[in-house]
Parts: sequence; C-alpha cells; structure tokens
Amino acid sequence: MAQTVISVPSGMTASGEARFADAASNGVLTVDLDAIVANWRKLESRSVPAECAAVIKANAYGCGIEPVARALTKAGCKTFFVATLDEARRARHAAANATIYVLNGFFAATGPLYADLNCRPVIGDMGELAEWDTFCKVNHHAGGAALHIDTGMNRLGISLAEAQALAPRIAQGNHGIMLVMSHLACAEDLHNSMNGRQLAAFREIIGQFPDVPASLSNSSGIFLGAPYQFDLVRPGAALYGVNPTPEADNPMQPVVEVKARIVQVRTVEKGETVGYGATWTARRPTRIAVVATGYADGYFRSAGGADGIRAAEAVIKGQRCPLAGRISMDLTAIDVTDLPAPPRRGQMVTLLGDGVTVDELAHHFGTIGYEVLTSLGDRYQRVYRGGT
Ligand SMILES: *Cc1c(COP(=O)(O)O)cnc(C)c1O
Repeated sequence: MAQTVISVPSGMTASGEARFADAASNGVLTVDLDAIVANWRKLESRSVPAECAAVIKANAYGCGIEPVARALTKAGCKTFFVATLDEARRARHAAANATIYVLNGFFAATGPLYADLNCRPVIGDMGELAEWDTFCKVNHHAGGAALHIDTGMNRLGISLAEAQALAPRIAQGNHGIMLVMSHLACAEDLHNSMNGRQLAAFREIIGQFPDVPASLSNSSGIFLGAPYQFDLVRPGAALYGVNPTPEADNPMQPVVEVKARIVQVRTVEKGETVGYGATWTARRPTRIAVVATGYADGYFRSAGGADGIRAAEAVIKGQRCPLAGRISMDLTAIDVTDLPAPPRRGQMVTLLGDGVTVDELAHHFGTIGYEVLTSLGDRYQRVYRGGT
C-alpha cells in the first residue's frame, strides 16, 4: 500500500498540519519527534552518570525506526537496541556511527551480517556464545557482543552459574564482551519484591565482570532509582509516551496522535441498535458519527460499546464522545448527540491524543500501552512533527 509520509516543522499548529494531510487519507497518525527527544532527555538526566540508550525495536514501538533514530542521534543518543537484524539494518542506515545491539541474538549464518552492519548481538545462551566465538575467530571479527544474564525473568539470558563460569575468561582480558546486562520482570510495579531480588543477583554477578559496563533497567527500572541504573539504561516505552510509573502521574510527554475521518453522520431513533451483534441500543434519539478506523487499524475491538459497558471515547472539537456499538474492521461508530453542533462528514476525530492517552486506550483495549503503539495500523497517513 502506498503510504504517504510527510514531515512538518515543530511548532506548526494542528490546522496547519491538517493542510498537509492528504485529502484522500482516512486517518492521520502524527508522531511528535520533539516529544520523543524531550522524553529521552528527561530519562537521560534522571540517569546521570549512566549512559541513556534508546530501544527502537518493533519499528520504534510503531513510531518509525529511521525518523526516531535520526532525531535521537541528533539529540546525542549513541546506543540503540533493536530486536532483529532487519531492524538493525534500518537503524544503521539512520545512525551511521551508533552502537547497535540486537536483542534476539546470534545465529551461525548471521555472522557476516553482523560484521557488515557493524552491530553487536546480545548473547544469552552458552551455545550461542560458542558459535559467536567461532565466527569471530575464523573471521578475525572484533566487533564485540553483549552478554545477557538471566536474574529471574526466565526468558533470555545465561544462568548465574554459567556467568560465574565465565569469570576466568573475563579475567584474561580481550574477551569481546562490551556490555553485561539483565532485564527486570516487574519494574513497573514499585513494590514488587522481584525487583530487589533481581538487583541483588545482578550486583553480585557483575562483580565477575569488573571492567565491563553493566545495564539492568528498562523505562520503569530507571524510576526505581539510582541503584538500578548502573552504566547504561535501556528505555523504550517511556520514550514513546507510555507511563513508566503506572502508580503516579505520567512524567513523559505524549508522542502519538491518531485522527480518523468521519465518513457518515446519521440519526438513530430511540430503541434502535448500532453495529454488529446489535449490542448497543439508543436510549434517546441519537446522532451517530461513523469514522474510518477499525480493528484492522489497531483500534482494538475490545474497546467497543455495548449496553451497560463503558466504551472508549473519541474527541471532537475538544469534547469527549463515547463509542456506540462494536468496532468493525474499518469503521467505528461514535455517539455525538451531546455535541453542541453536529459534526460534518469529512471532519477528523481524535482517537488518541487531545487528552486520550496511550495508557487510557490500553485500558479500554484490555492491554498495555506497548501493544497499543505496536498495533497502530499502516493505513494511516503518517506525519512527523519536529525532530530537526
Ligand atoms: C524491550 C526491552 C527494553 C525496553 O523496555 P521498555 O519497558 O519498553 O522500556 C529493554 N531491555 C530489553 C532486554 C528489552 O527487551
């Protein structure tokens, strides 16, 4: 599908942006690169003296690897984490001199790609480490790798005992391990005792890696305080506006805005139903605006309205309006009866932004902000604001 991507200068007003929006687009997704940079700076200043990297996997949480990597490089970010080699290729294209780590690690045949892209695998398995060592030896490759040690998440990483057994190699020097890291399982839950246990285990094991920089914290981990920050922090979600401190106000700026076009405005009599399954009944003469976004665009079906269920809300001219009935693949109905003036066909409605946060949508979707962002569809016209 042809997807137009346009950039507008920072500080341009919403109506200014609307002029850039393609008249044919059914929806517009705006990514505020200045907000991403401001969020990175905030996380960086909270983490001094640790280095603040940026996690840009999954297309930078839906925001676009290339524009995000470029904007953050300009802001001074020097280290990026991606999940796959394909993402690494895109990151390298946008950030020629950055250090790039690939979280999903090394497979025997991928050596030449790592060398070509000058990227580092995050190694979390002893067999994987042996394969990497072989590749490096045979090809005289000295690009380095990160070592992931599991401290309780039981997802990726070598065990504490395996890490312990690497001590002699580390003591010998010239070991090729440029970063030693672990990952927190419950960082967003301030009171979870898992955090302290993982911290203690990590502290102890990095004693075996005295000259290797250490990294433990994702976005929420940064907010657990200085002891969790070590030499490098790895925020992802918070850069993109997800609240890293769910028990408190969001310290981050919102980044993504989604608007969809009204394709029809109709009147529904009291007692009539709206949408598939006829789950939503009009309790009064009702005005419905049907907008061009649905679950195929990442607007989850679970956020729909039914009798007695509080649906997600959209914002029209600054006023919130609830959804009416189920969300379809390409369409969503909104109850706009309470607006002082009926909206017009063709007008844009805000589904994310204008006070509707990623975390609020996640609540209605029955998921987390991460999944809201990484599910945003590719039918939206993309607008990038700022970043210069
Ligand atoms: C995704 C990921 C991060 C970033 O996590 P956020 O919660 O998005 O900040 C950091 N480290 C690892 C290992 C990850 O997989």
